[in-house]
Amino acid sequence: MTLAEALETLDTAGGRLNLVGGHVDVVVAVAIPEAAWQALAAHKDELASSLAAPRTQPTARLPPPAGTDLCDRCGSIETTDATIHDGRSVRRDCARCGRFIRFSVWYGEPRTKESMYAPERTIPTSEVPR
Ligand SMILES: [Zn+2]
Repeated sequence: MTLAEALETLDTAGGRLNLVGGHVDVVVAVAIPEAAWQALAAHKDELASSLAAPRTQPTARLPPPAGTDLCDRCGSIETTDATIHDGRSVRRDCARCGRFIRFSVWYGEPRTKESMYAPERTIPTSEVPR
């Protein structure tokens, strides 16, 4: 599994990356495949530097904002984008407290909120217990 796929998997699982004391801390709401853990672990240094990269004003074209990114620390929906990886990736941080929200572009590949989250599951009415 590539790192991009692992990040996608993590996002779908409602996972979070946090930089704690220079180390990448992965928080997941539901279990993710072992392959995703391995990909994240194999690229932990790259992730750490991506999370720690200083914020700069984006110079690359940005994907249109998709949905609302809510900061789970301070509740703000104001976000700020910073380009990293020589402008090939975009990291979205909370504009108020600076918390990492997500990568909106990963090495040139725009990642919309819609693609990040699995669609909500609905239970067919025929399966609803009576
Ligand atoms: Zn915040």
